[in-house]
Amino acid sequence: MTASRSARERKAAVEAGPLGRVRIDVGADQQFVYKISCAECTAKGDKPWSAYRPGADNGYLAAMDRWTFHLHENHRGTDAPCLAYLPEAQQRLHERREQQDPPSGPS
Ligand SMILES: [Zn+2]
Repeated sequence: MTASRSARERKAAVEAGPLGRVRIDVGADQQFVYKISCAECTAKGDKPWSAYRPGADNGYLAAMDRWTFHLHENHRGTDAPCLAYLPEAQQRLHERREQQDPPSGPS
């Protein structure tokens, strides 16, 4: 479990690029919780901007999609591997909106 978690963390950190700080926590029910925060941006209250999503593969995709949009909107010109998946991320966002999923908590 731990090795798999740190391997996922490293992989996600590579995908997120130089501005992304990736952390994977393991929740009470043993599921992964993905957190990607921005090295440059701060949200309200001086906390770093971050995307936080529970769930193994779904959580990874959801957090990485949000991060990809963040880079695209706020850090044009940044080179990160995840930006290669921007069209797919936009497609997933579109599908999620059509399903009317409520957002999971404040961001
Ligand atoms: Zn940022």
